[in-house]
Amino acid sequence: MDLKIETIPEGELKGGVKPGQDLDFGKDFSDHMFQMRYSPGTGWHDAVIKKYEDFTLSPATMCLHYGQLIFEGLKAYHRADGKIGFFRAKENLKRINVSAERMCMPAVDVDETYEAMRRLVELDKDWVPHDEGSSLYIRPTMIGVDPLIRLKASDEYLFYIICSPVGLYYANGMTPTKIIVEEEYVRAVRGGVGFSKTAANYAASMLPGKLAAAKGFDQVLWLDGVEQRYVEEVGSMNIFFKYKDTLITSALNGSILPGITRDSVIQIARSWGVEVKEEPVDIQQVVSDIRSGKIVEVFGSGTAAVISSVGLLCYRDEDIVINDQQIGDFTMKLYDELTGIQYGKKEDPFDWTTLVD
Ligand SMILES: *Cc1c(COP(=O)(O)O)cnc(C)c1O
Repeated sequence: MDLKIETIPEGELKGGVKPGQDLDFGKDFSDHMFQMRYSPGTGWHDAVIKKYEDFTLSPATMCLHYGQLIFEGLKAYHRADGKIGFFRAKENLKRINVSAERMCMPAVDVDETYEAMRRLVELDKDWVPHDEGSSLYIRPTMIGVDPLIRLKASDEYLFYIICSPVGLYYANGMTPTKIIVEEEYVRAVRGGVGFSKTAANYAASMLPGKLAAAKGFDQVLWLDGVEQRYVEEVGSMNIFFKYKDTLITSALNGSILPGITRDSVIQIARSWGVEVKEEPVDIQQVVSDIRSGKIVEVFGSGTAAVISSVGLLCYRDEDIVINDQQIGDFTMKLYDELTGIQYGKKEDPFDWTTLVD
């Protein structure tokens, strides 16, 4: 990759983040962005780190009509040793290539794109907040940009990376969430695009999410789109059920997003000697196992919240309370372990961290 770097003159920098600054998730962006273009024949070209700014697109741009849009979400952290680190960043770039293949879009070079992202974060390091639990959220995105309203895959693509400083997700402490089992709408179907981090999945989840919120729930628990019997995910997180000695999560079946946090939870739990099963999870079984006390904790996993405790499940108009709506010990221990590794406060036996500077 022939990476050009067009830095902003010192006087035009926005000033980074200040200690104690209120950070509204995903609203403020750092000074620079990375961008490259794809054309058939040439491949990826015009790779540049430049000022974060608006770009213009034709109203006919294909991604605005047919949804060839994929993205990733990862974070950079200020570590205990004073350095800035990524958490499993190359996994996100490998995953965007999996999304790309399904959406008929070109793959990026994982190592070269990682290096461009590293240079971007290094350049904008004043935007990686220092406050406890804060981080720089990084959003790689790819869109099909042919100015053509004909239903086919775009020829030309734009790939870019933008960065947004974010605060501690649980500013008021981790409160267990209330979720409702969704039996009318589905998020994804077998053979569809559920495993791909593509815009359509999120658009499809908005109405059910809004209806659930109006009833006082934080998230929707999605069931499979074929039998509406097996648990898939919760909101945009993967879901785990903790039994006394076993941890169970839904098997990746093509309609579930293969979370990197999910994989990290599985590896950590196994390293602790906990048996982890990835299998189809029947909602009826879940409900009866919570009622009988066999399931002792339920939590979601994802980059934004890391681990999110579930305190209540509403199923067919009945509220079923989990662990007295308290955060379980196992959930808390996992959160501490994962964030400990991310912030360089704990050892990283899995080699998940890479350094930015
Ligand atoms: C991104 C995402 C997740 C979590 O993936 P992580 O890699 O752990 O952040 C889970 N489900 C959906 C639908 C997602 O979009």
